[in-house]
Amino acid sequence: MNPRGANSRQTVSPFDFPESGDGAGSAPQILRQAGQREVFCGLTGIVWLHRKIQDAFFLVVGSRTCAHLLQSAAGVMIFAEPRFATAIIDERDLAGMADALDELDRVAARLLRYRPNIKMLFLVGSCPSEVIKLDLSRAAARLSRQFAGQVRVLHYSGSGIETTFTQGEDACLASLVPAMPDAPGRSPATLLVVGALADIVEDQFRRLFDEIGVGPVHFLPPRNAGSLPPVGPDTRYLLAQPFLSATSLALDERGAKRLEAPFPLGAEGTTAWFRAAAAAWGIGADKVDAATASKAARARRGMARYREDLAGRSVFFFPDSQLEIPIARFLVREMGMHAVEVGTPYLQRHHMAPEMALLPPDTRYSEGQDVERQLDRCRDAQPDITVCGLGLANPLESEGLTTKWSIELLFTPIQGYEQASDLAELFARPLVRRMKLAA
Ligand code: SF4
Repeated sequence: MNPRGANSRQTVSPFDFPESGDGAGSAPQILRQAGQREVFCGLTGIVWLHRKIQDAFFLVVGSRTCAHLLQSAAGVMIFAEPRFATAIIDERDLAGMADALDELDRVAARLLRYRPNIKMLFLVGSCPSEVIKLDLSRAAARLSRQFAGQVRVLHYSGSGIETTFTQGEDACLASLVPAMPDAPGRSPATLLVVGALADIVEDQFRRLFDEIGVGPVHFLPPRNAGSLPPVGPDTRYLLAQPFLSATSLALDERGAKRLEAPFPLGAEGTTAWFRAAAAAWGIGADKVDAATASKAARARRGMARYREDLAGRSVFFFPDSQLEIPIARFLVREMGMHAVEVGTPYLQRHHMAPEMALLPPDTRYSEGQDVERQLDRCRDAQPDITVCGLGLANPLESEGLTTKWSIELLFTPIQGYEQASDLAELFARPLVRRMKLAA
């Protein structure tokens, strides 16, 4: 199976239809699409998650295609000890000639004996394991009992059948939530920042929360298996990534309360994000501004040189990472760009409301995908830059459009003040390159 092709499918309705407003004329018009999609699968998340949780191992239960996807996406070096691998389901398993779960037990036990430094093992489902209905929850429970006290074994699905690539992180974090310890009763409120961030960004955020007076602060995912943060009714959580709906639901079920905020992208989004946390602690915006003003000003100075390249330009988003709406808000409001269409695989209305409130009311959103129709709209618009997945980028480049791979937004630290100019540069670079080539 092709990692991209595996997600290309037709669904029942070939029709596009604009969602009606709320009758008051205030709701944005959203084009709902149900057709062929071009996205990567959730296994891709392992590429950044295995770097984040430093004593975890991701064992994909999948096919050779899954193994190729991971190896090429993560760039494995043969002399390194990678913290992910694929247990390949072969023809004997598919034909029912072998008990795949027994084999999985053997593979996992061998791995854990050989690598005693692994403290958390994720069994990651794939399209093939879902098709043959391999019950990884039972396998995880059995292995957890076998290795009790040594390794925590969890499971989630990274299958491309129903997911887009950032949902792999969502499924992984959601699988961690039941394993989080209960916050002790009558404890002071704690802040939980949810979503994988580069360590350097996490450190910057922690220092700023300290300065503002918000805390104690924990991060999910943690840097190691032994640091799973506590959760309970006194937990307030802030999403650092916009694609965590399953994780958010799981945290809600544990009694935690989500703080509504735009995402910490660009100077404006980062300030609003900190203000939301501060407000929950009864701290005013003035104190946040005092702690962040110099950083925000430095971020604006850094972004200014890229604004020269980006202001007045148009951008078109194909649905891929679920970061599209916050990034569009950043490009429109801080870089002076015009968003032709903001496509997103799924529109999480509750999570996106603060972002959509900041975008112009006539912004055209699309949810889901019917790739041929969307390509037609993109060609008609001839945007200055098109944000899309790898599979669409090369064909569009060959047609003369300038593209930006959305997956780069996950592999590059882009959150917070210090990274705001790097985020702007990600979009300015391909435009400048195109101009130089044209010259
Ligand atoms: S999980 Fe599915 S889409 Fe992803 S690489 Fe494996 S077979 Fe392909």
